[in-house]
Amino acid sequence: MSLLLGPMVQHIPGRKDLTDHSDAKTLMPKKTVYIPVFAGPVTQAEILVNEGDHVKVGTKLANTKSAFPVPIYSSVSGIYKGTVKRPHNSLKPQLHMVIDLDEIQESQQAFPPLDWHSASHEEMVEFTKNTGIIGQGGAGFPTYVKYQNVEKIDTLVINAVECEPYITADYKCIMDSVETFIHGVRILQKMAEVQTVKIGVKVSHPDLIDYIKQEITRENAAGIEVVGVPDVYPMGAERTLIRTLTKREYDRLPGECGVIVNNAETAILIARAFEKGEALSKKYVTFSGEGLKYPVNVTVPVGMVVSEIIEQLGGYIEKVETLKLIAGGPMMGKAMVSDQISIDRAMNAITVLKNENYEEMTCMRCGRCTAHCPMGLQPVRISNAVKANDAVEMEKRGAMLCIECGLCTYVCPSHIQVTENVRKAKRTLQMKAKRK
Ligand code: SF4
Ligand code: SF4
Repeated sequence: MSLLLGPMVQHIPGRKDLTDHSDAKTLMPKKTVYIPVFAGPVTQAEILVNEGDHVKVGTKLANTKSAFPVPIYSSVSGIYKGTVKRPHNSLKPQLHMVIDLDEIQESQQAFPPLDWHSASHEEMVEFTKNTGIIGQGGAGFPTYVKYQNVEKIDTLVINAVECEPYITADYKCIMDSVETFIHGVRILQKMAEVQTVKIGVKVSHPDLIDYIKQEITRENAAGIEVVGVPDVYPMGAERTLIRTLTKREYDRLPGECGVIVNNAETAILIARAFEKGEALSKKYVTFSGEGLKYPVNVTVPVGMVVSEIIEQLGGYIEKVETLKLIAGGPMMGKAMVSDQISIDRAMNAITVLKNENYEEMTCMRCGRCTAHCPMGLQPVRISNAVKANDAVEMEKRGAMLCIECGLCTYVCPSHIQVTENVRKAKRTLQMKAKRK
């Protein structure tokens, strides 16, 4: 299977077949979880429990401190042992809450469920805020924020595209819980106060499209339609998907063109919260790549350490030091220096690949990176501006518009880390903006 890219008809091996036909495995840590406080831009939290407290699955542990605060709930039952700084997929050590598991694994309702059929818009948004649910598409942005002001919104897009190679977590969790998924979509439809909902699924997953269609019919869910989208990369990027499904463009945020986008797993979490009072505690995560002996999807508690999951799955094909471990997929994910990171609330994949260290060569000005950039940027020029430390040029070339899809690096025949350079440009411009 392959993904067809942009104007140059470039193929990327999808390798979804490694995991999409086998059942997801449910795993539990033997002793300890380390629940990250960090999510998206949030690094601090008010901890609500004391060392030595017994907590259950669903106990509120903390409230994040940010402009958009959300609570963090426990994913296991056991004894809270305090906080520790540990490796994290943000590539910096971050604060984690440590819980030693007990043998009982008791659960409690994290909050009372809410009858969404009769609830007002304000009640639904306030409820969502208290669920602690953050977007499962990668950025980890609190879900309630998108729904606070829906006056100009007329369309909800559910992103079930999953265009990154190797990752099948969304596919798996919808196939396992299609009824809950459609309930979640209906709840989000009501909270967005829209009639039109489009669920984007790649045409290469006709089984998933049929399955969702049948459930929409069974539920008699008016206004909700599943749309097959081309199997191209990066079709799952918000901007590309909105363009394909609605023919609309926006500058900074989808709300500007009347659209809210949520990921498929977010919809499932929303349904569990509204209908059962469950907080985000377990996650579907794809563990895949040629570096693993047995690639598979897993459901694991938030905070379980990656090395322990891989050990329970049968391990690496060779020493981890010789492999490339990526949090996320190979295109948009970040290479990790340690497998001691734990599963965070927005993580959907760990990809382990054989390490192919190509030597970076001189740019041959072939223009492939520009021809493939879905944002219409000239990545090579931004990359050159980074090398010259020229922030004015980085800004002029629109570095901040980059969606970090990874295509420019993928297509570069000189093996230049173009995406990484564009990321550096974004960081430089962000720091410059903060200093103003
Ligand atoms: S990573 Fe950024 S610059 Fe490179 S192709 Fe993707 S959007 Fe364009
Ligand atoms: S793809 Fe690589 S070699 Fe070609 S122009 Fe871009 S940076 Fe240069």
